[in-house]
Amino acid sequence: MEIVIASLDDSLARFTLSGASPAFANAFRRAMIGEVPTLAIEDVRIYDNTSALFDEMLAHRLGLIPIKTDLQSYSTQDTCSCGGAGCPACTATYTLSVEGPRVVTSSDLIPQDPKVAPVHGNIPIVKLTKGQKLVIEARATLNTGRMHAKWQPTLVCGYKNHPVVTISDACDACALCVDECPRGVLEVKGKKVGVVSGKLPDCSMCRLCERACLASGIGEEPAIVISAEKDRYIFVVESDGSLTAKEIMNRALQYIREQADELEKQLGELSGDEKR
Ligand code: SF4
Ligand code: SF4
Ligand SMILES: [Zn+2]
Repeated sequence: MEIVIASLDDSLARFTLSGASPAFANAFRRAMIGEVPTLAIEDVRIYDNTSALFDEMLAHRLGLIPIKTDLQSYSTQDTCSCGGAGCPACTATYTLSVEGPRVVTSSDLIPQDPKVAPVHGNIPIVKLTKGQKLVIEARATLNTGRMHAKWQPTLVCGYKNHPVVTISDACDACALCVDECPRGVLEVKGKKVGVVSGKLPDCSMCRLCERACLASGIGEEPAIVISAEKDRYIFVVESDGSLTAKEIMNRALQYIREQADELEKQLGELSGDEKR
């Protein structure tokens, strides 16, 4: 199995995974979405709310604000030494006190620990008119996207099989497929059509090129055929900013490894051949 990174920054990773089964590729995708913990607001104590929004709607909106997550300093409540009661090792607290007229934004949430501030300060929460007030205290906890979408660290996380474009000698370079391709993947190269250098991963496998070729009257079979590599995948992972794209990938792989180790251990115990 091999991972080749095409581009990587804090918020976005594009990479190719080769030599993996469809089951592994999907497990990796699901682990990145649902098994990597992040912080999200879970409890809200409302002291004063004279805004137009119900308390429940406010709490819901607060829960969806992405929060910078420091996985070294925070643990999940179920593994914390406080036993889930809530302590500085598993719970981040915020205060907010605003009086209108103005829009309350995520920058009004003041974290007790500056490391775990909202990712963006300009997310609108509610608009207050003159005299309206909002005074709250909020607590964020660490959990995973499997529990609720607000704990997902990814905005986009998906993959497709790596495309393969095959052009036969029947091609007469009529360029009908070049004009039809919506992604600009094809170009005429001498007496045949070919793939523009570096554009193959952009192919969406829509097969419009095959249809255009058949429409040219070439016969029963098109000169261009689109297929997919069965064990090679192009991934795109976009973070919501709570963790870096690299942290999301690393944590997901760590989760899969731990699950596999656990399964191996349990199978060993069942067969009386426990791993030492
Ligand atoms: S399958 Fe679609 S995107 Fe790919 S080369 Fe053909 S027309 Fe272009
Ligand atoms: S439409 Fe068919 S024959 Fe024409 S350039 Fe494309 S592959 Fe070649
Ligand atoms: Zn705790």
